[in-house]
Amino acid sequence: MLDSLRSIVQEVNAAASTAEVLNIAVKRVKEVMQVGNCSIFLCEQSGDYVLRASDGYLSEAIGNVRIPEGEGLVGLIATREEPINLENASQHPNFTYIPETGEERFSSYLGAPIIHHRKVLGVALVQQEQQRRFDEGEEAFLVTICAQLAASIAHAEATGELKDQLSKPRNKKSRKQTEVVLNGIPSAPGIAIGTAILMSAPADLRAVARRYVKKVDDELALFKDAIRRTKEDLHTLDTNMVGKLSSSERALFEVYISMLDDHTLSDEVVALIREQKMAAQSAWAEVIREHVRNFERMEDAYLRERASDVRDLGRRVLAHLQQSQPKQIEYPDNCILIGEELAAPMLADVPHDKLVGMISVRGSRNSHMAILGRALGIPTVMGAVDLPLAEIDGNELIIDGHQGRIVAHFSRRLRNSYEKQRREEQLLAANLEQLRDEPCITCDDHRVGLWVNTGLRIDTMLSLDRGAEGVGLYRTEVPFLMHERFPSEEEQRKTYREQLEIFAPRPVTMRTLDVGGDKALPYFPIEEANPFLGWRGIRVTLDHPEIFLGQIRAMMKASEGLDNLRIMLPMISNIPELEAAMELIYRAFDELTKEEGFDLVMPKIGAMVEVPAAVYQIREIARRVHFLSVGTNDLTQYLLAVDRNNSRVADLYHAFHPALLNALQIIVDGAQRENCPVSVCGEFAGDPLGAVLLVGMGYDVLSMSSSNLLRVKAILRQVSLKEAKKLAEKTQTMADAFAVVEHLQSKLARPGVQELLGG
Ligand code: PEP
Ligand code: MG
Repeated sequence: MLDSLRSIVQEVNAAASTAEVLNIAVKRVKEVMQVGNCSIFLCEQSGDYVLRASDGYLSEAIGNVRIPEGEGLVGLIATREEPINLENASQHPNFTYIPETGEERFSSYLGAPIIHHRKVLGVALVQQEQQRRFDEGEEAFLVTICAQLAASIAHAEATGELKDQLSKPRNKKSRKQTEVVLNGIPSAPGIAIGTAILMSAPADLRAVARRYVKKVDDELALFKDAIRRTKEDLHTLDTNMVGKLSSSERALFEVYISMLDDHTLSDEVVALIREQKMAAQSAWAEVIREHVRNFERMEDAYLRERASDVRDLGRRVLAHLQQSQPKQIEYPDNCILIGEELAAPMLADVPHDKLVGMISVRGSRNSHMAILGRALGIPTVMGAVDLPLAEIDGNELIIDGHQGRIVAHFSRRLRNSYEKQRREEQLLAANLEQLRDEPCITCDDHRVGLWVNTGLRIDTMLSLDRGAEGVGLYRTEVPFLMHERFPSEEEQRKTYREQLEIFAPRPVTMRTLDVGGDKALPYFPIEEANPFLGWRGIRVTLDHPEIFLGQIRAMMKASEGLDNLRIMLPMISNIPELEAAMELIYRAFDELTKEEGFDLVMPKIGAMVEVPAAVYQIREIARRVHFLSVGTNDLTQYLLAVDRNNSRVADLYHAFHPALLNALQIIVDGAQRENCPVSVCGEFAGDPLGAVLLVGMGYDVLSMSSSNLLRVKAILRQVSLKEAKKLAEKTQTMADAFAVVEHLQSKLARPGVQELLGG
């Protein structure tokens, strides 16, 4: 059973369209369950269930049989959201005979709903002539298949619709353009209209778009050359591995070479280049993807495994093709970066004035790419799982960063309406500029410090323009991400000096290297099953004191004469960790001042509170440090057990969860009792509603993306500390995050405040 199940799922996942998904599913389920019919009905927008695939009904019925919502056995299964297992279907009160299907010969009936993200997409059913009840195992098999099918159907439907629309010519004059709308996770607010530019990790077979060329001979020569160079690499690898790998392990290189010598792959590629004038990269990727799919469909487990060999070989040749044809990306004005997994280094080459939006298939609202999007004020959608990258490359798109919506193939009318919204938002932002030099004081005269989070050079510049009073979090991993190896102590010193000088005399809080989780350095990969619970933050740097000490020394040297450095430690989860890190910091200070002659002031040392353990040991930690800073991004994920980077559970990641509000109150109370200053540097501080709650709890420094700073200042100047306290107290007793947000919105719904809550 398990083998059949796995092979059906693999075949279905490799299918290119919804029709193919459904046809494979009905055929294979019928075979495996040995029944007379397997059919699938899918729900249409009207609510009707339409027969979309069948192996057993009369073929004319497919696409023509329509069952209204709630009717028949199909309707009953969909409404009850559970399977039905009947010995004799025609005796069930809900049974409606559908003559077009020819179903009169069947008696027994087993049907199950196909549900994706709580939504019923359709119903799958099997029938048999013989009158019998399907056994428990058969029922469980159908339920399992339906659960697996759901995601494939949802994905194929979304991408299929989009591909169809994109292949149609756009009618510029038409007001009635049928736009294609895709949804992702809203990750940085704002509206963007621009051209999609696909950013791919090198040698990513999935991200190679279909391109056509004029000079066929050039492409053939490039292809031949790439094959030759790949074979040379494989021979060299084979030789270098003598003594390191066993001869059976090295046999793989021989297999790869013979696959390249055997003309099957090459002939197909050459045919595509010659006959269809396809670019060499596109033709190679196309052929490899097809072969991978074929292997993945194989029954035999050994042969199925060969799919990964073909993929690996495919990448090697593609890397050579990409080297000989480096992708010269021409960034148009108003460019929207799209990619399977956008990463910070991809931003390095894009001229800042041209970048208007970002969309990533993977990741979620609290992935670091999303945080960068917010820091730069670039509308961003993450977790756009149905985005067909290759097809959408080069198309005009609208991004609605508030709703997490992506629109393609849109009418002029729609474009104008989004353009209007964009201008209105710009106007609001321009009005807020007036507050730049005003202090952040509540209307009953309570002073709140507004600091910024930085990392990229560009967000540093923006921060000053927006009147930041200090840096509450400088993410040092960002410059680390831009290198191809660990930056040297001197390289780091220069980068940190620039940051400290720009803000001096204002304080700059530099966090020690916080990698791991979703922040992998390309030259220091950490592969773990549970990266967020693994080797990250302080755990990595304590295990590598040479990296930690090099960084601390660079920070301290950079601060000479400026004296505005504060050092902050991420992911502290126990006291020994904190003490070990502090000891190394004091040791670096002693070395620099006593042995190397630097004239330094000892920087203040702080700990981040972002792990639940730290909440319950807050006073112990506060007693040992000069300041505390709450990282609500991680604290939310650890307290609610919701991976901040996983789009599937993004709905559960809610910083307004009363459990988190209570934890935040415990932290500030504990810190105050130890007279230890405490701020918040997670994204919650930059949310206008979050900021009001934090002030009400007693936090008096908030550090945020500079793009949120003026909005937060504007709202805090219009509430009183008394009101904020009342809101903080009340919301901690509420049942859930939605009730909290609703309460805050209704209490703050007044002119001057309401429009600030919109984004
Ligand atoms: C946090 O976890 O809230 C935080 C500020 O750190 P980061 O988002 O970089 O993990
Ligand atoms: Mg963190």
